[in-house]
Amino acid sequence: MEEQVPFVDLNAMTAEVRPQIRAAWDGLLDAGQFVGGPVVEEFEGAWARYCGTTRAVGLANGTDALQLTLRALDIGPGDEVVLPAATFVATAEAVVLAGATPRFADVSPDTLLMTAETLEAAVTPRTRAVIVVHLYGQMADLGRLGRFADGAGLALIEDAAQAHGATWLGRRAGSVGRAGCFSFYPGKNLGAFGDAGAVVTSDDVLADRIACLRDHGRAPGSHVDHVAIGTNSRLDATQAAVLSAKLTRLDDWNTARRVAATRYREAFEYGPVRMVEEAPDARGVYHLAVVRVPDRDRLRDKLAAAGVQTGVHYPVPCHELEPYRRYATGPLPVAERAAREIVSLPMFPHITEDQVTRVCKAVREASGGFGE
Ligand SMILES: *Cc1c(COP(=O)(O)O)cnc(C)c1O
Repeated sequence: MEEQVPFVDLNAMTAEVRPQIRAAWDGLLDAGQFVGGPVVEEFEGAWARYCGTTRAVGLANGTDALQLTLRALDIGPGDEVVLPAATFVATAEAVVLAGATPRFADVSPDTLLMTAETLEAAVTPRTRAVIVVHLYGQMADLGRLGRFADGAGLALIEDAAQAHGATWLGRRAGSVGRAGCFSFYPGKNLGAFGDAGAVVTSDDVLADRIACLRDHGRAPGSHVDHVAIGTNSRLDATQAAVLSAKLTRLDDWNTARRVAATRYREAFEYGPVRMVEEAPDARGVYHLAVVRVPDRDRLRDKLAAAGVQTGVHYPVPCHELEPYRRYATGPLPVAERAAREIVSLPMFPHITEDQVTRVCKAVREASGGFGE
């Protein structure tokens, strides 16, 4: 049988930065510094500069980035937070963990991202914040949406866990709203060798509050003075060293993802399989390369038979997942239909031209029978 085209392959990225990480880890072993410290601060500074904010607060994971941002903004019981139904479950989970109530919004049929209109339809007098999700690595249009959020007095929080380095009107993901929340889970565009996350913001008070919450509510500079009920969500120095090394490669890796995505887009231009569309002013970083096709499962079976691995992100919209159904307020037809039609194709920075060619050919052959 022909060699498989993997859905994702992280090994080539690791190989590029292995010497720097080895050296940095040797330094940490010598210093005996494993949580927090100068290596974490160095990454926080570099990540804030990269995103175009004044501050970055390193955390244990992306779910905490969302949850602690909400808590730091005093959003909790009795408050509603609007988020798109088309997202990874962690966005909704963070709202519930903060004690607030998630309200699910529908998405654009072209980009599968939240819009000003779908946000407006979900807002109630109890709404205090909106979490816009830059799904698959593409920033949502934050122009009209941002103005609507401002006008309604809502805190705009960006879930940029899939969008490291993506831009909208030249502004980096995470830098437009009140705060931008990142995950550095290994498979993300910037990934650690374990779990990690961060919040970026140019609001010093907010950054200080999140830094306090991540470290058991400690007062800044004190080990024994606890001024808030916090948690333990600190960033490991070992992971910060990995992230600093990989950050030097992030732009090149994102460019490589875009090259592969452009080839997919051109190959499927005439359907019936179609790439999710790019928004006009956004430059996506293709965390995932997602196409839509009416008979999704048949396409996946045929691709699997041709040795092409695929995924589905995500097969059930959040408001239809059992634990979240209680928060659903009605059908969200665009998100529901998309969940039945989406397929994620192989996508990673070191995917070869030959692998992309094989995927395109396999998709064309598999979709021949779908009809126009
Ligand atoms: C990965 C992800 C998260 C959660 O990040 P973790 O580090 O796994 O906690 C949140 N939102 C989105 C959209 C994600 O893709």
